[in-house]
Amino acid sequence: MTPSPCHYCDLAAGRTPSPGGTIYENSLWHVAHIAQPKLQMRGMLVIRSKRHIELIPDLSDEETASLGPIQRLICTAVKQVFSPERLYCICIGEGSPHLHFAVIPRMASMPAGSGVKTLLAMSELKYACSEAEAAEAAGAVRDAVQAILAQSSADTLRQLGGRRP
Ligand SMILES: [Zn+2]
Repeated sequence: MTPSPCHYCDLAAGRTPSPGGTIYENSLWHVAHIAQPKLQMRGMLVIRSKRHIELIPDLSDEETASLGPIQRLICTAVKQVFSPERLYCICIGEGSPHLHFAVIPRMASMPAGSGVKTLLAMSELKYACSEAEAAEAAGAVRDAVQAILAQSSADTLRQLGGRRP
């Protein structure tokens, strides 16, 4: 198999494994624990488009319609599992030219009052976790996602969009 020039395309297609495996996916979006040892913080997830696009203006109508429901689903599951003080869902994209949103539970033990302080502390590996901790966190969030989906209305499931893989 010819390697893709984009690491995030490889992650979204399952050609590169994520710690603990896929948490949620459909034909438009893939969600997994972050797989970057330098930024690997317990419970930090990545929502990435399946298609290789770079910026929010590149989203299709279908991707746009499902983005909010996907973010709500994943953030709800992360909130249930980790009970963070704050919950970030950010799109920066300096490190990878493939559209993605980092979901970061800012715990009580982390700097409050400024997301920048938390991100700086993360960049200094203050919250780095092991592969096993990341895999365990991914499993816990996946279980929470499944429980939420099992209780979701047909409307909510339709809004998530995309065919199941
Ligand atoms: Zn890509």
